[in-house]
Amino acid sequence: MGSEERGPELTPAVGREVPRTLFTETIRCPECGSNSLNVTAYLVNVKFFGEIVLESGECSSCGFRHGDVYLADYGEPVRFEVKVTKESGDYLLVKSSSATVIVPELGIEITPGPAAQGYITTARGVLERVAEVLSGICREDVRCAKKLEDVDKALRGEIGFTLIVEDPLGRSAVVRVQDCADLDRST
Ligand SMILES: [Zn+2]
Repeated sequence: MGSEERGPELTPAVGREVPRTLFTETIRCPECGSNSLNVTAYLVNVKFFGEIVLESGECSSCGFRHGDVYLADYGEPVRFEVKVTKESGDYLLVKSSSATVIVPELGIEITPGPAAQGYITTARGVLERVAEVLSGICREDVRCAKKLEDVDKALRGEIGFTLIVEDPLGRSAVVRVQDCADLDRST
């Protein structure tokens, strides 16, 4: 796709713990360029991922909304490659703003840009976002419609797909939902 991600989606895997405010600062807005993007960062402990930083903010000049999610303890580049099939079940991911998400079979590539967002989602959640974008832009385009059809097939579990998440800053993570459930039972 090569399109840039928009819109924070912070809710699904966030634990019940009260978030601790890490910092509040005003930075340059990637959208309008003025120094009026007010960002607040929270530290939360999310089961299976550990400590995670949630950033949210809004530009007081243009209304641009910033949202990011990343592992508090990061550093080395990471790369995850998983096969998502009916048998494997779904995967949960912390996709930071510096991550690239690729689904080779479906020709999907979500690359980070200056206004990129981070969010917690699932492998299916990634496809749902793509399907939403495609259904808005496809119209008469046959190739686009075919792609949307394939994404829908993957969402229905009729075809498996590969999910690749690369983060040069090591701020992202991918875990299998079933493994979380197993771990949950054993603790
Ligand atoms: Zn702005």
